[in-house]
Amino acid sequence: MNATAFRARIELTVLTNDQLKAAHNHSIRNHDEIQRSKICGCFYCLETYAPAALQSWITEPETNERTAECPHCGIDSVIGDAAGFDLSPEFLRAMHKAWFEDPRMDTD
Ligand SMILES: [Zn+2]
Repeated sequence: MNATAFRARIELTVLTNDQLKAAHNHSIRNHDEIQRSKICGCFYCLETYAPAALQSWITEPETNERTAECPHCGIDSVIGDAAGFDLSPEFLRAMHKAWFEDPRMDTD
């Protein structure tokens, strides 16, 4: 197997771009979903914690919807498990790589 095929296979076994974007959508305006979650994870600093650890929220001026800020790093990159994703270290690392290290991703 050459290097390109190997890399493509690795990406397929982690998350597709659609999955990455779907998961990212759960990191914004996620207050209610996080309240329904048992555990939350941050894909910036890769910490996981209970929803009660979240003390800081960004409020959208138009809609009053609230977005969680990570209590460890302050980045709005928090997903609750009620979103339906497995918040494993592998998942959080794949999200971090896609959204903070890969310039091809965008937040449309
Ligand atoms: Zn964090």
